[in-house]
Amino acid sequence: MSAHDRNRRLADRAGAPPRPMSLREHIAARIRAEGPMRLDHYFGTCLLHPQWGYYTGRDPFGTTGDFTTAPEISQMFGELIGLWLADIWISSGRPENVHYVELGPGRGTLAKDALRAMKRYGLQPAVHFVEGSSALREVQQKAVPDVRWHNDLSTLPPDDPLLFVGNEFLDALPIRQMAKTPNGWREREIALQDDAFIFAAGGRPMDAAVPEEWRGAEDGTILETSPAQAAVMYELAGRLSDQGGAALLFDYGHAALHAGSTLQAVKDHRKVDPLAMPGSADLTALVEFGTLARIAQSRDVRWIGTAEQGAWLRRLGIDARTQSLAKAAPHHADDLRAARDRLVEPGQMGALFKVMGLSGLHWDGGAGFD
Ligand code: SAH
Repeated sequence: MSAHDRNRRLADRAGAPPRPMSLREHIAARIRAEGPMRLDHYFGTCLLHPQWGYYTGRDPFGTTGDFTTAPEISQMFGELIGLWLADIWISSGRPENVHYVELGPGRGTLAKDALRAMKRYGLQPAVHFVEGSSALREVQQKAVPDVRWHNDLSTLPPDDPLLFVGNEFLDALPIRQMAKTPNGWREREIALQDDAFIFAAGGRPMDAAVPEEWRGAEDGTILETSPAQAAVMYELAGRLSDQGGAALLFDYGHAALHAGSTLQAVKDHRKVDPLAMPGSADLTALVEFGTLARIAQSRDVRWIGTAEQGAWLRRLGIDARTQSLAKAAPHHADDLRAARDRLVEPGQMGALFKVMGLSGLHWDGGAGFD
């Protein structure tokens, strides 16, 4: 008899429900006990459940993993970010005691490349990572040995200027979805049908949570919102306002609120059903930069702008950097050009990915956004 069957048998005898053996069983048991689950709870549980979360126990990046991110495509990505940070630091008068803070640093590759570039300009900040996965913390330690970790932004140093960087961090934060039904707007929740997870309309009217111009939308319209992203943005902008510094946040997303579900699950570089393999597939949603900009602007900071990743990288000099690296290593020239195209070309990552820049009011405006 397997451990699983034994466990069930013992539980049946004791009259208690069997102890879950997987994230699927854990979520199903919670839905049976408490009713349908909100999407943000499902999302957060799938990614960072302490035992079975997607990021908790694995390194999902690269060709052998589930997906590839910009810093893993080329060192040029992190280097140009380091260059931008060094430039804004120098033109802001080289403030002392600055800290580099990366949100969701993955393998630590971006930080390593950015820190190397900053060092060339005399910028050697203390390094902080906001990271929820213990498996990834181990990988990050190898890339950047001298780092302090945080579970969220609340424990970051309280006084000194902070240089924030995040790539594909905000898209990993939980979202909620509202759907227009014949009974008005309702939250989209996850329910059980036989043993499968399905979307179902929540019981409570949600019309008041939907912007006025969307209230009369057709039945079936879906809107997304991410209180978790909003909270991070609010805190980050507040830190820049109080402490000075700058931020670069890269993600794929829209400039303004769009209708439709952007919830996406990826496994082995392929899209899968977001409800089909909880904890085994990555979950993301597109970021809505308009709302994030408004939240930042509600604090006393400079919103430098939101640019397409491709245009921003070109203004920072990715073409010249590609050429000089190709000249130094001619046998890698084709790979370098392919990596550059992947990051920059509109049909690849150049247009769907955006970057938002922020800085403290006493800091400079930064390059690449005009
Ligand atoms: N920036 C990296 C990784 C992006 S994947 C890159 O570009 O390659 C998302 C990262 O955010 C992972 O490191 C993941 O563990 C982390 N993460 C996701 N949700 C988080 C949360 N709520 N709190 C802290 N870290 C989180």
